[in-house]
Amino acid sequence: MSQKVKILINGNFIESKTTEYLPVENPATQEILAEVPLTELSEIDQAIEAAQEAFKTWKEVATPERARLFLKYQQLLKENQKEIAEILSRENGKTFPDAMGDVWRGIEVVEHACNIPTLMMGETVENVARGVDTYSYIQPLGVCAGITPFNFPAMIPLWMFPMAIACGNTFILKPSEQTPMTSMKMAELFLEAGFPKGVLNIVHGSKDQVNHILNHPEIKAISFVGSVPVAEHVYRTGTDNLKRVQAFGGAKNHMVVMPDANKEQVVNNLVGASCGAAGQRCMAISVAVLVGEAQNWVDDIKKALSTIKPGVWSDESAAFGPLINQQSKDKVLRLIKSAYDQGAEVLLNGSDCKVEGYENGYFVGATLFNNVSTDMDIYKEEIFGPALLLLKAETLDEAIKIINANPYGNGTSIFTNSGAAARKFQHEIEVGQIGVNIPIPVPLPFFSFTGWRKSFFGDLHSYGKQGIRFYTETKTITARWFEEDIPAGDLNMTISLK
Ligand code: NAD
Repeated sequence: MSQKVKILINGNFIESKTTEYLPVENPATQEILAEVPLTELSEIDQAIEAAQEAFKTWKEVATPERARLFLKYQQLLKENQKEIAEILSRENGKTFPDAMGDVWRGIEVVEHACNIPTLMMGETVENVARGVDTYSYIQPLGVCAGITPFNFPAMIPLWMFPMAIACGNTFILKPSEQTPMTSMKMAELFLEAGFPKGVLNIVHGSKDQVNHILNHPEIKAISFVGSVPVAEHVYRTGTDNLKRVQAFGGAKNHMVVMPDANKEQVVNNLVGASCGAAGQRCMAISVAVLVGEAQNWVDDIKKALSTIKPGVWSDESAAFGPLINQQSKDKVLRLIKSAYDQGAEVLLNGSDCKVEGYENGYFVGATLFNNVSTDMDIYKEEIFGPALLLLKAETLDEAIKIINANPYGNGTSIFTNSGAAARKFQHEIEVGQIGVNIPIPVPLPFFSFTGWRKSFFGDLHSYGKQGIRFYTETKTITARWFEEDIPAGDLNMTISLK
């Protein structure tokens, strides 16, 4: 019998009382790794009560002390990075180097949380009126919650709970039901680092559990990352319940290839950015817009993509792993067929891909379409598979117009040797994260992850300064003290050092 994934309530890893479980599958083999509970709603209430109770004391812990706990947590995550990455690879399917990167990008957020005393600094103005000073503090909100997707099982939970907790909040995490075990390992290390019980709680489940969190009156703020329809639902329901919500959704990211770009760099970067992690990245490049003479590079792109192969996570020669499940594979195959039916030119078709020894895996090979138009389904929908679409534009203006007409706005990039072209692109493009000769421009945690339009609902983004503002409330104090009230003898006060 496969193991049952536990829930974490008030510092205890316990088995849920529910009788309903979902399988956690290795997508390369269909082996059932574990069963994840659809946590009973009363258990979610208990987790929230534990977090409320922990908040009373956690918010009073001095900020340098909180920072010290995060320093310890960072050290433990680094020491256990390989073990976490292996758990992650098995449940998600991504290659081991990719999984190590997933954990590493999360560790960087923990490092950012270690700066919390400086990050929590408020503002001051002396003498806003004669003898009157105004200053502000930021204070935590209370119990916050995070709901995360399958595709970055380490990084995305780490975008959320370290920043919220460093600010003095307590947290309920609901990881993806498809990849819950990575979070459990990271939670073990969190407790080992010495964080008090109840500060981080983990519940599992799907729609019903998420809706319960969205409607619970004691949850003050919700961070969500996942697909667009669910992001919209979470944003609407959460804000309808007067909660603070940041909801990151899906994407369709374009790379503009100018004719003056370095061809070798373009080709190499397109391979990794489109098919790395089997295209299951919200910042994956799924469309290359070839401008002018760059349209002659199609054969080079095809040649490079045809050399990469998927495989199981432990295969060092594998460029990427399987898709997460049969449903995802079916969707990718449907879109490939639709593109073919709607007149795109199929240069590489990964639909029939088989990996020897892993015939049950949800593998799709690298896929490349030329002559794609913006009215095709494969262009309009997020593919989330190892597929690259080639579009043509005669000018940079035309390329910008195509991208700005697309409803998503997560990431984009331009490859060029012209500073003027790059400057025009970064200024005019309506996308939140832009790479100049960088294919996947995910900002490091001292900046924020700033998707736009349908890729993000809310106003304050994840981590960086915006993450701190999202998880705190500002208190502004205006103070006046009367000199005549200073007790005699105190005016020449001296400080005695012990
Ligand atoms: P998903 O929307 O299916 O699931 C995300 C979370 O929502 C999970 O925890 C799931 O249990 C929960 N959920 C699913 N259906 C729900 C419903 N009807 N009501 C309430 N909760 C529900 O997403 P996924 O398949 O796990 O992840 C892939 C998606 O996430 C892609 O669209 C990808 O682009 C997006 N993503 C976006 C970013 C970003 O930063 N913008 C980052 C990573 C992934």
